[in-house]
Amino acid sequence: MAPAEVAAPSCSSCGAVQSRLGKTSCSAGEPTSPPRPGSCPTSTQGEIIGSALAELRGDGPDARLARVAARVEGLGYRQTEDGPQARWTRVEDTVAFARLMGYRKIGIATCLGLLDETSRLVAVLEAQGFEPTSVCCKAGSADKCDVGVADGAKIRPGGFLVFDNVNWYLPSDSRTPHSRSLGDGVKDPQMQAATDVLAAWSCTWLTNGVNDTAIYVRP
Ligand code: SF4
Repeated sequence: MAPAEVAAPSCSSCGAVQSRLGKTSCSAGEPTSPPRPGSCPTSTQGEIIGSALAELRGDGPDARLARVAARVEGLGYRQTEDGPQARWTRVEDTVAFARLMGYRKIGIATCLGLLDETSRLVAVLEAQGFEPTSVCCKAGSADKCDVGVADGAKIRPGGFLVFDNVNWYLPSDSRTPHSRSLGDGVKDPQMQAATDVLAAWSCTWLTNGVNDTAIYVRP
């Protein structure tokens, strides 16, 4: 006989009841708790939850981590008439957790768009005596096209290059003083190599008679 199909867990379905009552069946743990939805893993995944609990009752690293995390949570919240309120920021939580765990090195995996926030977090952690290391999601500088993403599907399709004072390096018919004429050619071999790459890019050459700027866009 085929095993009965178990509903996939969907704790998200408790979002509404939590917003309304401030608790769920699993967090309340009391007879008056809200009912569990049919897909509640507390009901449907008892075996897996039981084996995970057995691990956390032991002396392994996961058990220690779980106990310290619970201790930090207990320290970082205070009881109010409206329920538990956080006393610490998440950064303070992290510092307390790392200190109680005895960690010295803290790795930060960050988004490229959060480097400023990351640098502030690093400063806080260093001031607290930790050794933070950080790496961003763009490390390696790989083009997404290299892993099969279509160029047009990227957030910034194509390449984009703004070339200030381009008339000092590339020949043109610009009348801006000190421009290289068509007869002068490209300034040097290095610039010639760059020009060869840019030949396939569309170019918009702007001039105000004093400065010239070229905007290249990769097709
Ligand atoms: S009561 Fe069950 S379904 Fe709801 S959040 Fe808790 S574990 Fe998830």
